[in-house]
Amino acid sequence: MAPEAGRKRRISILGSTGSIGTSTLDVIRQLGGRERFEVLSLTGNGNIDLLAAQARECGAALAVTADEKRYAELKQALSGSGIEAAAGRQALLDAASAEVDWAMAAIVGTAGLAPTLAAARRGADIALANKECLVSAGELFVKAVATGGGRLIPVDSEHSAIFQALEEDQRHAVERIVLTASGGPLRTWTREAMADVTVEVARAHPNWSMGLKISIGSASMFNKALEMIEAKHLFDVRPEQIEVVVHPQSIVHSMVGYVDGSVLAQLGAPDMRTAIGYALTYPDRAPLDVERLDFARLSRLDFEAPDEERFPALRLARVALQRGGLQGAVMNAAEETAFHAFVEGRIRFLAMADVVEAAMDRLSHLPPATSMEDVFAADEEARRVAAGLIG
Ligand code: NDP
Repeated sequence: MAPEAGRKRRISILGSTGSIGTSTLDVIRQLGGRERFEVLSLTGNGNIDLLAAQARECGAALAVTADEKRYAELKQALSGSGIEAAAGRQALLDAASAEVDWAMAAIVGTAGLAPTLAAARRGADIALANKECLVSAGELFVKAVATGGGRLIPVDSEHSAIFQALEEDQRHAVERIVLTASGGPLRTWTREAMADVTVEVARAHPNWSMGLKISIGSASMFNKALEMIEAKHLFDVRPEQIEVVVHPQSIVHSMVGYVDGSVLAQLGAPDMRTAIGYALTYPDRAPLDVERLDFARLSRLDFEAPDEERFPALRLARVALQRGGLQGAVMNAAEETAFHAFVEGRIRFLAMADVVEAAMDRLSHLPPATSMEDVFAADEEARRVAAGLIG
């Protein structure tokens, strides 16, 4: 949604206290801050001090924590600022439903689905970092954005790259989408070694600084698996048109191959602020203080085929894409459940894929979703099944 001439762009940041949220605030700062943007709301969960500090700095009208029990703490942290404090699930949905021009969807996991949907229905342009929305709700989510009247602008670096390399009037000539994957910290590990990997080692991504969930997802390649499903819904391609290639340097963020053999790629330093900035200023580009690529110093870019034996998540994404229907929702919910069990020390690293595969098999009979209620029900059922498998 474009603001009327002369009016500041009204925005909200759902998940402002996370890795994407803080980078978004940095981009806003770089692009003019309060002079140019009116921040209506910021939302977080557990990090109350940061939420309050962010709200004070950008002059937000409202700060919301999803955690009802933290209301008094947030109110206290905002005292004297004139910024409204709110807490709980409904407050989060109300904040997401406010009339803004642009909303950053950066809440982690399925918790982001309902608020992002609320923002989409209200007609905001959605800068989508939360891939779980598309993985779970697929066409229903895309439709909700279209019905609301806003634009869906990807923020995931791979999908932003594809979005930038897609020639709008040549979509019919797209042959394939090539998602690059860094391979994560376990890229060269044997399966035997992976069996014993700790959370500390698995979360230490070689190139990107990110939140815990996506960092572990990069190590298991479940993040790439979710991105394959995200790509299908964002770019309306067939499953067989989606390829993954491992590119350890994370410089080529992804590519689009056309029927004439041409491949268009988007390159940049591994810094999410470029994709966030593009989502904020699209279709324009604005100057950002991020590292520039020095090709002479880079000297080489490596590519290799992914190993689906060591990283079964990629195979499971293909299964989910082939089966269609609610398998994305099931995969996403089972993966989130297995992720929590791994970080809490209840299952080992490789068991995450086993849990997801078993949950997907058990729930492969679910009919395609006709409403968001079907998606939420499948999500709940998959969490129950996965929890039962974990024991
Ligand atoms: P973080 O874990 O760093 O941040 C998550 C945000 O969500 C925080 O603001 C957190 O609040 C909030 N949050 C957590 N739980 C809840 C809840 N139950 N209800 C409401 N809000 C909640 O995640 P990232 O920033 O890394 O990732 C956010 C999304 O963006 C994910 O979907 C991820 O896949 C995607 N993404 C991230 C990238 C990255 O580089 N980080 C790259 C591409 C995509 P608090 O911190 O206050 O608890």
